Amino acid sequence: MNYGEFGGQYVPQALQLRLKEIEEAFLKCKDDEAFINEYLYYLKNFVGRPSPLYYAENLTKYAGGAKLYLKREDLNHTGAHKINNAVGQILLARRMKKEHVIAETGAGSHGVATATVCALFDMKCTIFMGIEDIQRQSANVSRMKLLGANVVAVTRGSGTLKDAVDEAFDFLADHPDVFYLIGSAVGPAPYPEMVKFFQKVIGEEAKEQLFEQEHTLPKAIVACLGGGSNSIGLFSAFINDDVKIYGVEGAGKGIESGQHASALSNGQIGVMHGMKTYIMEKEAYSISAGLDYPGVGPEHAHLYQTQRVHYDSITDEEAVEAFKLLCRLEGIIPALESSHAVSYGIKIAKQFKSEDCIIINLSGRGDKDMDTILKL
Ligand SMILES: *Cc1c(COP(=O)(O)O)cnc(C)c1O
Repeated sequence: MNYGEFGGQYVPQALQLRLKEIEEAFLKCKDDEAFINEYLYYLKNFVGRPSPLYYAENLTKYAGGAKLYLKREDLNHTGAHKINNAVGQILLARRMKKEHVIAETGAGSHGVATATVCALFDMKCTIFMGIEDIQRQSANVSRMKLLGANVVAVTRGSGTLKDAVDEAFDFLADHPDVFYLIGSAVGPAPYPEMVKFFQKVIGEEAKEQLFEQEHTLPKAIVACLGGGSNSIGLFSAFINDDVKIYGVEGAGKGIESGQHASALSNGQIGVMHGMKTYIMEKEAYSISAGLDYPGVGPEHAHLYQTQRVHYDSITDEEAVEAFKLLCRLEGIIPALESSHAVSYGIKIAKQFKSEDCIIINLSGRGDKDMDTILKL
């Protein structure tokens, strides 16, 4: 599956064979009623879906414009949207009769989600994590180990997320018995399409929930962007509607500083992790580890080029400000990643009328960010 000139499958032949096997299984399962029912069963009973769509009345008053609604992915089991995708892909791995699941992780959120579903289904679990990240995210490393995962330190390159993804793909190429459970809407086909498929529940629910509460479509929707899975999960339900769509990257210490994670506004077209997309020349930086990815999923590159989605970025400082606001005004401690979307939602609220609605995706909770916040 291609997204304009983006996407594709830029990988060696051994990997093409693995990807073909995954694609065939995915295409079969996505139209299989028994498979979908199993997926929905675990989303409901294990993850805790549907997640609420919450009218943030106090935040709305503060922002002084459109009504701000929060899609509460932070209330999912393990604290973020990543578990939706992990549940979907592990069920696929089971259908493929795989017994060993591998995954990459940066901050550790996707590693924890993967270790969680591996524990649930009694699968062998190996998590590749950069050696730098292992030191920075020791709490999540402990969680993964408690859940039974084997955490492998990746020492190549800068020892961070990008290197962990490379390591996982190399391992997949060498091991036909393994299933690679990727954590965002990135990588070679069919991964971006598959991850979107398992995350589109976010947008489908939000659309229905807003209709129940307000009998209308939102005027705008907002989500933050690391690789782009929570955002594409929200966006996909609204892409053909008359709705303004905003994707928010991390501007880090400011675009001019060079220390940011804005691959779309400041990257260039190239190939990374088996896909053609916008990538950054330098290492990515953001205060939130989940946005700290030097590229974006290929569908976002396409939506950027065709201008269906407006992409912008929010600095560390602005995100921390929104983080504090949401804590104090609504009693919700958001993830720093999600705080970027909250900040942007507040910023644009005034451009709309008071009866208009904006949906902001609250992709995760902020417990994991306590150390970062307390240090400031
Ligand atoms: C991982 C993560 C993100 C970024 O990943 P996407 O694939 O872009 O969604 C955003 N928010 C939270 C809470 C995360 O854990």
